[in-house]
Amino acid sequence: MARILFDLDDTLLASEDGYNEAYSQLNLDFSIFNTAKKHVKTSLPAGAVQSHNRWLYFKKYLELTKSYSPENLISLSTKYESKLLDYLSKDWSNKKGHDLLKKLKKKNSLAILTNENLRLQILKINLVDPKNEFFDFTITSEEVGVEKPNLRGFQMALENWNCSAEDVIMIGDSYENDILPAKSLGFKSIWINLKNSSDHHDQLIKISGFNELEKALESYL
Ligand SMILES: [Mg+2]
Repeated sequence: MARILFDLDDTLLASEDGYNEAYSQLNLDFSIFNTAKKHVKTSLPAGAVQSHNRWLYFKKYLELTKSYSPENLISLSTKYESKLLDYLSKDWSNKKGHDLLKKLKKKNSLAILTNENLRLQILKINLVDPKNEFFDFTITSEEVGVEKPNLRGFQMALENWNCSAEDVIMIGDSYENDILPAKSLGFKSIWINLKNSSDHHDQLIKISGFNELEKALESYL
């Protein structure tokens, strides 16, 4: 039995494509939106967990376009979330993610370690495991207080499982945020190298997408 620790975005779910699709359906002025997003990120301390919070981007966007009201902010944010979840739900069903988790769960322990705020991540995880059948625990960086690659979330996973690092397989798409910290603690790892980077030729299991995950895991399980 192995313990498999999943990143969420662009590991289990095609989040980046989902964000782009959701933004494209909001009729935003992207030059103003990008200014708003930059403003939020630069106003916060470096590495602040809330720097990904879309509600902050949309609030600043509405302020910059002189159209801020609570009603407009809630409307824009919930429309974004709904378009994003529609996209991710189809993606999860198309790639038969449920079947893979069900199969893996039979012989292994599964959990999630993800950056971003709890609200948005739970909306996404609700598509993947609404009844909490698959995951022993979910750790979001909002709960930890710091984002990956900080080691704290990885250490919390070890504490939760009460196991040693070599018993855990970290699966993630970010070399810097998922793989490097996992390796530094002695976890095994599988890098979903979505952008097909030719860097990092070290002893690493590297795959190009979710569809190759089951096969890659066979070398560890
Ligand atoms: Mg990711």
